[in-house]
Amino acid sequence: MGSEWVQNMRGRLRGARVKATEYIIINTRLCRACWKCIRACPRGVIGKVDFLFHKHIRLIEPDLCVGCGACEKACPEGAIAALKRSKRQGDDQFC
Ligand code: SF4
Ligand code: SF4
Repeated sequence: MGSEWVQNMRGRLRGARVKATEYIIINTRLCRACWKCIRACPRGVIGKVDFLFHKHIRLIEPDLCVGCGACEKACPEGAIAALKRSKRQGDDQFC
């Protein structure tokens, strides 16, 4: 995925609530609040919006994301997409 696309996406997000880390982007409209990605993330990056009729993930510590891809793999709804892969992917220190 080209860096130009990433830059365009970051531009669209500017001024809005953060929905991307350096490595992943989330689409809360697709989220079904199963919380599998939260359990999969080794870094505590993902948290919950958990109201009665309003439930989806949110990024609580985006700067801690190491791009391991565990959240993307865990999501059955395709609500998380990789922007780029970390050089640390597969590094047991993190995932
Ligand atoms: S890519 Fe890895 S570190 Fe980043 S949010 Fe997903 S599971 Fe957490
Ligand atoms: S795994 Fe997917 S559907 Fe489940 S909480 Fe995470 S983003 Fe939402």
